[in-house]
Amino acid sequence: MGFKGVILTYAREIVVDASKEVSESSTTAATTEASSLEAEQNPDIEAWRQGVLETVEMVGNGDILALKLTGAGEPAMRALLAKEPLPEEMMLALEQICKRAVERQARIFIDAEQQSVQPGIDDVALGLMEKFNVDGKVAVFNTYQAYLKITPATLLAHLDIADKKKFTLGVKLVRGAYINSEPRGVINETKADTDVSYDAIAQGVIKRDLGPFGKGKRPFPSADLFLATHNKESALMASKWSNELVAAGLPATKVQYGQLLGMADGVSCRLLQMGCVETDGSGKVSPEVFKCLSWGTLGDCLSYLLRRAEENQDAVGRTREEYLQLRRELFHRIRNIFV
Ligand SMILES: Cc1cc2nc3c(=O)[nH]c(=O)nc-3n(C[C@H](O)[C@H](O)[C@H](O)COP(=O)(O)OP(=O)(O)OC[C@H]3O[C@@H](n4cnc5c(N)ncnc54)[C@H](O)[C@@H]3O)c2cc1C
Repeated sequence: MGFKGVILTYAREIVVDASKEVSESSTTAATTEASSLEAEQNPDIEAWRQGVLETVEMVGNGDILALKLTGAGEPAMRALLAKEPLPEEMMLALEQICKRAVERQARIFIDAEQQSVQPGIDDVALGLMEKFNVDGKVAVFNTYQAYLKITPATLLAHLDIADKKKFTLGVKLVRGAYINSEPRGVINETKADTDVSYDAIAQGVIKRDLGPFGKGKRPFPSADLFLATHNKESALMASKWSNELVAAGLPATKVQYGQLLGMADGVSCRLLQMGCVETDGSGKVSPEVFKCLSWGTLGDCLSYLLRRAEENQDAVGRTREEYLQLRRELFHRIRNIFV
């Protein structure tokens, strides 16, 4: 059908309830316990490493492997909550996974999670990007959640780090999946505010303009953009900006798109239909679209899908529109048999 590839994710994940405060004593105890666990081989990390390495062997050239760091279980979770470095065993596993993915010419998404663990995830992602995103190529993407008020500032700080350390920043932009478990104050007041923020960040990165991030005119650091969204308006608008820039011969950040398999297929197909837009002879721009799917045990996959259904309630609300689109297409195909 023209899809560029798959985003494959290993379904194991942990969700923390932010309403349950992590007390200092519990984090200290957790860190101590985590350190003693590190001494031996940790079964959670080892199970995760094996599962993810199996996933890498399933992705092909150009595909993407999505990693949820808390999938490595309690030791990773505890270190991230305590704002401690990840256990060494986990860091070695991550490097091994990234190396293998690069050998297979695949890329890696480091998924964004809850704010209680995200600063640690950002640090790990920046370290991996510094190591693997060299020579203008992006092997690793970090994820940025547009529903957070702080995200434009975080992204600007990361662009600066990438610029200073001479690596290319991989920006995967999402709206954010943890609205029901995050402290409400860190998230934009309304859905409309999140939509505005999402499109402004996407536009800033595509047009290589630091304006939306509060900085005036200065060269935009090297970056690649991946828009993970089911929102048709955001996806189509980004594709339009991208086409306009390429048609005008202006610099534009490379952008790709992704949706979950079985969700917002209408958006994915609409992007594919827009493929091969002729430009002024300097080339063709076809939106590169990926479908995201998970694998793992039945229990892990069911929990994963239930969480996705919950966090995508806006998309679920749009299913009537998709139902009507499918019905129209069915009638169209049946009519074509007889005409
Ligand atoms: C391929 C892929 C990878 C993803 N990876 C991640 C990831 O790593 N981390 C992650 O957190 N999420 C991830 N998501 C999920 C994503 O963050 C969204 O939850 C989901 O895609 C729905 O948002 P949308 O852009 O598709 O569009 P829409 O359906 O238009 O937007 C829904 C989103 O808007 C925001 N929102 C809703 N109501 C309000 C409100 N009242 N105030 C403020 N904001 C509001 C929420 O973020 C909600 O999820 C991923 C999604 C995809 C498709």
